[in-house]
Amino acid sequence: MPPLRCIRLAGALFAMFSAVVLPTAGAQNTPIVDVHFHHLGSRTDSSLTEMAKMGITSVVLIGLPAQLATTADRSDLRILRSLTLPCFGGRMPNSGMACYPGGGDWPSRDSIRAMVRTDRLHLLGEINAQYGGMRLDDPAMEPYFAIAEELDLPIGVHLGIGPPGIAYSDIPGPPQKSSAYSGQAGDPLALDGVLRKHPKLRLYVMHAAWPMRDAMLYMLYMHPRMMVDVSVLQYAIPRAAYVDYLRDLVQAGFAKRIMFGSDGSAARVREGIDAIRAMDFLSADQQADILGGNAQRFLRLGVPR
Ligand SMILES: [Zn+2]
Repeated sequence: MPPLRCIRLAGALFAMFSAVVLPTAGAQNTPIVDVHFHHLGSRTDSSLTEMAKMGITSVVLIGLPAQLATTADRSDLRILRSLTLPCFGGRMPNSGMACYPGGGDWPSRDSIRAMVRTDRLHLLGEINAQYGGMRLDDPAMEPYFAIAEELDLPIGVHLGIGPPGIAYSDIPGPPQKSSAYSGQAGDPLALDGVLRKHPKLRLYVMHAAWPMRDAMLYMLYMHPRMMVDVSVLQYAIPRAAYVDYLRDLVQAGFAKRIMFGSDGSAARVREGIDAIRAMDFLSADQQADILGGNAQRFLRLGVPR
């Protein structure tokens, strides 16, 4: 490569790995932020109480409008409400109630605006397109990326694995079967064009798209604002596979781009925190970053809403 280009590349790399990053505290003092916690029905409040006792200071609570609206703010931890979409079939599996006001599989953009205006919505996600076999560059997703960029809402997208056997009605396991779930729809490269079209999007890839390692590394390298969470990996795959994956992300230079998430009950939260603390290839600062510092920065939690 010609020297000038080489210098430009070096400058861009320096910016990617250092300039966009703020200093963070050591492991002891860091807040712990769970960026991936689904509403658990009647168990939600007691789970949040347990999580606060574990040192969680902020939680991204993922749910449908009725679930988000009925969860009260708390004094022991900060709740950031995140609207999940789409809802294939339009009805909540347990109650049969409509997922969104007015029915349908997708929330209206007016309803999103209204929730944001009244400080009842802070993120979009989990984006469940893969569960319906829909890639993230599907035209149906475009209005939601556009409104997330316009309203400066962080957006979390599911990519990678779902429950094993989800596509097969004769294999016991997931209670809800979906023959539509597909690996093709879970390709992180589908975000390449989305992020170019919406350069200000504050997007994180949930589960770090495990096991789509190469595509994930490529996307993190090429899109310096993109983040990932490591939810589900602490319990869905063998611990050695999780450690191996996280080490690859860190060795590739992305320790400031990884956020803690649980995707489970309070017990899963505990398991997730312990898993990261047990990873001795991470420095104390890197553990602090992953457990909370990176999310504090990405979600701008130091700044009053
Ligand atoms: Zn997910």
